[in-house]
Amino acid sequence: MLRFYNTLTREKDNFQPLEPGQVRMYTCGPTVYNSPHIGNYRAYVFEDLLRRYLKYRGYNVNQVMNLTDVDDKTIRDSRRAEMPLRDFTAIHKNAFFEDLRTLNIESAEVYPAATDHIPDMVAMIQQLRERGYTYDVDGSIYFRLDRFPSYGKLAHLDAETLQNGVSGRVDHDEYAKDNVRDFALWKAWTPEDGDVFWETELGKGRPGWHIECSAMSMKYLGTHFDIHTGGEDNIFPHHENEIAQSEAATGETFVNYWLHCRHLLVDNMKMSKSLGNFFTLRDLLDQGFKSKGIRYALLATHYRQPMNFTLDNLRGAETGVQRLLDFMDNLPSADGSGADVRPLLQQTRESFEKSLDDDLNISGALGAIFQLVRDVNRIRADDRLSPADARAVQDLMHHFDSVLGVLDVDKAAHDADVEQLLAQRQEARKNRDFGRADALRNAIRERGYVIEDTPHGPRLKRM
Ligand code: AMP
Ligand code: ZN
Repeated sequence: MLRFYNTLTREKDNFQPLEPGQVRMYTCGPTVYNSPHIGNYRAYVFEDLLRRYLKYRGYNVNQVMNLTDVDDKTIRDSRRAEMPLRDFTAIHKNAFFEDLRTLNIESAEVYPAATDHIPDMVAMIQQLRERGYTYDVDGSIYFRLDRFPSYGKLAHLDAETLQNGVSGRVDHDEYAKDNVRDFALWKAWTPEDGDVFWETELGKGRPGWHIECSAMSMKYLGTHFDIHTGGEDNIFPHHENEIAQSEAATGETFVNYWLHCRHLLVDNMKMSKSLGNFFTLRDLLDQGFKSKGIRYALLATHYRQPMNFTLDNLRGAETGVQRLLDFMDNLPSADGSGADVRPLLQQTRESFEKSLDDDLNISGALGAIFQLVRDVNRIRADDRLSPADARAVQDLMHHFDSVLGVLDVDKAAHDADVEQLLAQRQEARKNRDFGRADALRNAIRERGYVIEDTPHGPRLKRM
């Protein structure tokens, strides 16, 4: 039985989706105002493991990951860069998708952008207003905490904290627990917003950050769905506010399982932009680290364990993944007399699944795999591993890798590289620089792809 630690209940709950065989899950995605650091990718790799394991267990997964392309930070930094908000966030959206491919993170089914869903947010705020959960101050609209008695159930806020909180309001998207306040659903335009505003039935302004995720998750997943994930900093205020807005608007339970990963730390401090103690994926690749090692490093520590980031750990992860790759590379040359490896494979599989069933216990799962590697190597040293045995081992490893995604990372990174060349070729064609466009086509060909021009634009095909 699959069990997940649920932040809401503070227990490992048996997993039972609302609809048999179907999982609807929402993942808080990036705020697209700069390159994510690898702390952010700890969260996305954990969510990828969750998604992949649900699929391994036979569920059909419908995952939605939002792109926050309007909030305090995107507005502030697009103005600093003197760029229109849309152009500014487009750069960071593209870079994010490139990083996902580099890390072999599977695509979600939908990536809704906040700026494409303003009418949905407006409708939801109107619904809250009709139900008496809001009040207006100078054109901004706030959520009334005192109308929602179960506020604090996710972050487990105590009565005293809440009592102090009903006495004021907060305009910023981000704030700490000691500042529990009525929060902004809609923010009236101010000069700092520049040309970022929408003229709506609610007036001239923009949505608060929290309402974005409530409106977009319910639009694509329904008013009540299975899983909602994020990093631990999302618990308060973001997810607490999402619950308040969503449940107040519909009168129903919003989400059944809340899963949060612990932070990636540097010297015991959260890796974050504001502390300046961060590495981006690009930083590490430029230093010569490989994406497979980075993915493995982020994956191999259980998502609820604190994880301290060091370059030494990263080197250790590269060694670990290399051992698996070498093992796989050597299997095809096995020519021993034959051993019955089926019981060993069966046992490994049970151990792998039993571990991951238990709140994604990745250490147990990897332990089972490395035990298999040792056992198979021993059989081989005795000249007993036949080609058929080796193939059976290979098949099982590939099956496991549908969850781990580390054996084929290089291929994924390679594809990302080719996609980038394709984008550059399109750009060259747009600028009528056909010499460069042809050179790029050849570079793509050298990497084993041909470009097919279709009515929907160009597509890559493996030769
Ligand atoms: P943001 O772009 O700041 O909204 O963050 C995107 C995701 O990364 C959220 O799920 C955060 O909770 C998560 N996150 C931010 N910093 C870290 C960190 N140091 N370790 C793990 N997850 C993080
Ligand atoms: Zn969110």
